[in-house]
Amino acid sequence: MNAPFPKATIEGYPRVGANRELKRALEAYWSGKIDAETFESAAHSLRLDTYARLRDLGLNEDYAIPADVAYYDHVLETALTVGAVQGETLDDEFRLARGNADSAPLEMTKWFDTNYHYIVPEIADDQTFNARPQRVLKIVEEARNAGHAVRPVLVGPVTLLALSKQADGSSTQPLEHLDAVVDSYISVLEQLHAAGVEWVQLNEPALVADLAAADDAALAQALQSAYRRILAAEKRPQVYLTTPYGSVRKGLDAINELQPEAVQVDLSVGTLALDPSYLERVAGLKSHLSAGLVDGRNVWAANLRDLRAKLETLPGASVTTSVSLQHVPHTVEAETSLPIDVANWFSFANEKVREVVALSSGPLAAPEAYAQADRAVRTRAESARTHNEAVQNRTAQLPEGEVQRQPLFAERNEAQKALGLPLLPSTTIGSFPQTQEIRAARAAHRKGTLSDAAYVDALRDEVKQVIELQERLGLDVLVHGEPERNDMVQYFAELLDGFVVTENGWVQSYGSRCTRPPIVVGDISRPQAMTVEWARYAQSLSEKHVKGMLTGPVTILAWSFVRDDVHQSVSADQLGVALADEVRDLEEAGIDIIQIDEPALRELLPLREQDRKAYLDWAVRSFRLVALEAKPTTQIHTHLCYSEFGQIIDAVAGLDADVTSIEAARSRMELLEDIDDKFHSEIGPGIYDIHSPRIPSVAEMAELIRAALRNVPVERLWINPDCGLKTRGYDETEASLRNMVLAREEVLSSLVPA
Ligand code: GLN
Ligand code: ZN
Repeated sequence: MNAPFPKATIEGYPRVGANRELKRALEAYWSGKIDAETFESAAHSLRLDTYARLRDLGLNEDYAIPADVAYYDHVLETALTVGAVQGETLDDEFRLARGNADSAPLEMTKWFDTNYHYIVPEIADDQTFNARPQRVLKIVEEARNAGHAVRPVLVGPVTLLALSKQADGSSTQPLEHLDAVVDSYISVLEQLHAAGVEWVQLNEPALVADLAAADDAALAQALQSAYRRILAAEKRPQVYLTTPYGSVRKGLDAINELQPEAVQVDLSVGTLALDPSYLERVAGLKSHLSAGLVDGRNVWAANLRDLRAKLETLPGASVTTSVSLQHVPHTVEAETSLPIDVANWFSFANEKVREVVALSSGPLAAPEAYAQADRAVRTRAESARTHNEAVQNRTAQLPEGEVQRQPLFAERNEAQKALGLPLLPSTTIGSFPQTQEIRAARAAHRKGTLSDAAYVDALRDEVKQVIELQERLGLDVLVHGEPERNDMVQYFAELLDGFVVTENGWVQSYGSRCTRPPIVVGDISRPQAMTVEWARYAQSLSEKHVKGMLTGPVTILAWSFVRDDVHQSVSADQLGVALADEVRDLEEAGIDIIQIDEPALRELLPLREQDRKAYLDWAVRSFRLVALEAKPTTQIHTHLCYSEFGQIIDAVAGLDADVTSIEAARSRMELLEDIDDKFHSEIGPGIYDIHSPRIPSVAEMAELIRAALRNVPVERLWINPDCGLKTRGYDETEASLRNMVLAREEVLSSLVPA
């Protein structure tokens, strides 16, 4: 049995289903509406539908279809299969992912530089790895019964351990367990072989990143030691080793020595831009090459002729996607209201499968596909929708490089004393609970059954209640609560020129959670004010300051699909000046405190150390553009969350905000230890974790405030939760905020007057 590697394949496919069938089944099972058997049967149907669709789209060779199956997350799935975490039943799996009444869930964190989040296995000193291949064997068999020879997909051993976490109290690093986990992989592969499987896919994206857990050389070394043993195993399927999400550096020599039967490399335009010699370097690989030419991370129709020219430099290579298609929506065909010219420019998962097939068969066999791609490239380049001269002229006039708001912080800080804020001012991060009524009103408004005027009335009513609640609680700086925002990025994307939004462009974020990222199609500008009326109204209801609330340029880009025809910094500058106009309009409406949220600043951080400075330079610059012309008396806040600020703490300080609120409760203020010498701004480390419905006590929050005061002088400290409250209920929110205000009072009263 020596099936050849397929000529055309993909690395993975969206798992939630074209109609989010998996999401619905998961949520129905979790809420007890369906039993395990009904859930399994829904998931089974979805898998078979997917295989049939992929075959229709042209993946008709044996092993062309990846069986990248996962109910909740693919890292968790592999961890269960090789016994890196223990669990047998569906409920075990969901307990690990989501926790239950008696046990906390495993941590979840970002998957490389994407918006997908994976479950982090914890490896203890005494960890044993018992292979549990039943699930993957079942997948193979059910596919075979339906007539498909699919390719099982596992996260490879090096990546699995590199992305795992050392269990609390353990002294060994996860990668020290490599030998033991490899035993388990070998046993899984043996059983796949016994079941007649001829190709297995092992994903090793860790090889493209500089990770905190292991540097490039250490990872290459780990790869050697793991795969020497795996490939030496006698009874195994042929190994397809994949390296998505960037370029392999040191690991490439190791791969060449190991010579797995086939190797995938990411040859997307973005990866080649960061590493221009990569195409030539991979051409020398001795394994069968699977060229990841079709970009799995963006939504743009491929320039087939350009890609075909690259392919021709790699004789004999197969064609695939740069990464799994799990990061793009299912199909453009589900979009009924995109502007017609624009719709032709897009390529989602199904369209990308067709591109792979057309690339592999060539222009003579698929002339229509190439002609269509040529048209998309041409009309997009010529369109007035992509190129707006007024916008380009405006950003062309900006100074290059670093921009600096004047006067500097110390002088602004002095000027802002006029705001009359008390010591240890209390505030919240922006959103208040999104009630059932608001959601229902929004849905009715979208359907057209609720008029614009009635919708606005409902939202104003909500703003009024939120202001009254904050007054009652005794908070110092108020917010309007953001009831008008379905999402902090989508809201702005719908109001800015240069974006389009989709109806069905869902992408899995984690578990059953999906987002619908807007798409930046061209130059960005602001036709009119976006937040001013809400801020003005909220401010009219209170004597206290109400914060204006904006989403920053980096976060808007991080949670959108971006352009591939200009560098991201171009869009970032355009957003910077558009939002600067919003700042000016807010000031004119009498708003003196404006928050610019950048929770995603860390998300876009490049995987390679050497690329990070250039990113942080343009990212920080775009934020600074927003605040550049703000009056000295306007207090600019920023907010960041999703922890792990260590690597970017200088950039956070470099944002030069007057006040920075930052997630800190879960790490119990640890991050403050090295913050003091870097930060001159005021700072609000979150003192309660809004990700849980638990109501923190006065005593524990007072303790956190005291902990913060050990590192931050009292005149620079703010009191606030970790993040916005939109996912919480009103009862717990009210109780938590009341305790927060009491904790502040307790600490204040114990301070010795200066
Ligand atoms: N202002 C936003 C909110 O409160 C911030 C959300 C975030 O940081 N993710 O909802
Ligand atoms: Zn946040």
